[in-house]
Amino acid sequence: MSSVSNSQQLVVLVSGGGPVGSTFALVLATMMRSHAKIYIYEGRWFVDQDDRTKWQGEGQGRIRRDQVVTLQDHVIHQMPTFIQKGLFSNLNERVWPTSRNIPIREVEDRLLALLEPFVESGQIELVPENLNERTDRLVNGYFHEKSTAVTSTIYKSLEAFRAHRAQCADDFGTKICGT
Ligand SMILES: Cc1cc2nc3c(=O)[nH]c(=O)nc-3n(C[C@H](O)[C@H](O)[C@H](O)COP(=O)(O)OP(=O)(O)OC[C@H]3O[C@@H](n4cnc5c(N)ncnc54)[C@H](O)[C@@H]3O)c2cc1C
Repeated sequence: MSSVSNSQQLVVLVSGGGPVGSTFALVLATMMRSHAKIYIYEGRWFVDQDDRTKWQGEGQGRIRRDQVVTLQDHVIHQMPTFIQKGLFSNLNERVWPTSRNIPIREVEDRLLALLEPFVESGQIELVPENLNERTDRLVNGYFHEKSTAVTSTIYKSLEAFRAHRAQCADDFGTKICGT
């Protein structure tokens, strides 16, 4: 695994390697190629003894998400062909004419497998931990201007959200608005 990054790259931190985060990272990596360095943070991943990032399961005291979801063809067709093929490479169950059924754990496994070549090339880095406001890469990261602008927008939104929540808690109490 190599890790290439330079000041010309857009540094992107993705919070969560679920279906949306992983698909987003795959599409972005395909479109941006070496112009983007993408870090995916996922708290349900772990690194095994062969240095491979995997989803936590029984061995780690977790229950995988076995529920079956129905993915509509019109949604799938919006994805790049390599994701469409990769997603259903092990299991291609057509129950209805315009949709397919697939357990979420299979979606998660297939997307993680699709990320591998990008990890090999250093375009994507998998970080087996939760992203939070104290995450080193977020606080002290080597962001250049574009990324700093994005980060600053996130912080401003966070501050606005906190202010809004505090006001809400004053008006309606923390039971309704959270703490
Ligand atoms: C019983 C059931 C049936 C469903 N049926 C369907 C269906 O038929 N069709 C359908 O489209 N959807 C269905 N869903 C919903 C489906 O689960 C979601 O559409 C899908 O999981 C959404 O993907 P996501 O990536 O947005 O979110 P998630 O799958 O929730 O992924 C988010 C990820 O982010 C990680 N995470 C959270 N916080 C952090 C953090 N701070 N840092 C790092 N990582 C973080 C989590 O561990 C998680 O892996 C169903 C759900 C259930 C429970």
